[in-house]
Amino acid sequence: MSLLQLGLSLDRSGITAAVLDAEGRQHRLERAPVPTGYAALLAAVAELADRADPTRTLSFGLAIPGSIAPLSRRVRNCNLVHLNGHDLHPDLEAATGRKVRLGNDADCLALSEARDGAGRFGRVVFGVILGAGVGGGVMIDGLPLTGAGGSGGEWGHSPLPWPRPEEVPGPRCWCGLEGCMEQWVSIPALERDHHRLARPARPVRLPEIVRQANDGAAAARSALENYVNRLGRGLAALCNLIDPEVIVLGGEGADLGLLYDQLPDAIAPYVISDGSSAVLVKAAHGTASIARGAAWLWPGAAMAQA
Ligand SMILES: [Zn+2]
Repeated sequence: MSLLQLGLSLDRSGITAAVLDAEGRQHRLERAPVPTGYAALLAAVAELADRADPTRTLSFGLAIPGSIAPLSRRVRNCNLVHLNGHDLHPDLEAATGRKVRLGNDADCLALSEARDGAGRFGRVVFGVILGAGVGGGVMIDGLPLTGAGGSGGEWGHSPLPWPRPEEVPGPRCWCGLEGCMEQWVSIPALERDHHRLARPARPVRLPEIVRQANDGAAAARSALENYVNRLGRGLAALCNLIDPEVIVLGGEGADLGLLYDQLPDAIAPYVISDGSSAVLVKAAHGTASIARGAAWLWPGAAMAQA
């Protein structure tokens, strides 16, 4: 057995590192908090990489919740906004002392799950992250569809389709537009919708909303119904475009068990063929999946060097 690959993923909740061997067996999983500020973040990534791979002999990939602009090579559209505008690739290589490949986090989720996870039986696989932000990545015949400008599958910043009158124009997004999917189906968006309906005295997080809904609380049930309906419309538009065989859910939202029961019926009315044939599954590799995808950026990876 030889350890070959180190993958890290970065999001607002933390940094995750996974060490894999050539067969994809996971030998180590490490977590670290995300500090504030660009220099501190580079240092934290370097420190976690060294903790996971003290010998610095493994290939190294990093997934970020954004992408690299093809011309300027700088980070853009990253919801860890203090990364935006930075020339991350050389800065990260200098900070870590390692050669690095960068990928978008949702692309890495799709890559991980299509390679040896819940999407391994599909030719066309859509991976979606439902977390603090929302991202999408497409795999076709084992290859990531990164697109001409590096933003293929960027579903989170397309608008909520078939909007109801009260959903127009929709909340303003950090990207500058209004009504992006991310502003409707991220976990904070669900919690905001619940707050609008229930007017609780204190902020209520998703697990408690689910508990309240199970206890019959009307506002919690409505918030979850709205969430399923909006996610269903968004995925239906995606199905009309690429008709995936597998849709893999990752992020905190993937733990919502009701999605697997209720989403197919929420998608079906909006799909032009006789319903979607997509199988809806939870990411098999859980919280490690995006880091695993980052590790897979190296061996024979067709994903463009970011
Ligand atoms: Zn947006």
